Amino acid sequence: MPTYAYHCPNCGGFDLVRPMSEVDAVAVCPGCGMRGRRVFGAPALRRMDARLRRALDAGERSADSPQVVTAVPPRSADRRPGRATRYTTDPRHARLPRP
Ligand SMILES: [Zn+2]
Repeated sequence: MPTYAYHCPNCGGFDLVRPMSEVDAVAVCPGCGMRGRRVFGAPALRRMDARLRRALDAGERSADSPQVVTAVPPRSADRRPGRATRYTTDPRHARLPRP
């Protein structure tokens, strides 16, 4: 999806990523909620980071057909009660202070 630039009279410029079919829809400033005016500039399709573009596309797809589960996932066999689930494999995180 392309990125469109808008100008807010209070906050200045802001960008919105939206489908081309919604380019003329009302652009609300994320800072103050005022209506923004479209600003024309160079297309930003190639400047966007590929990972960000994939994430935005995945978010767009999930709006139409969300991936849902119908049951609670089974407990992992190696998970013991009372033991926290490991969220990271970075060894530096183990040295962080604990509450
Ligand atoms: Zn604003």
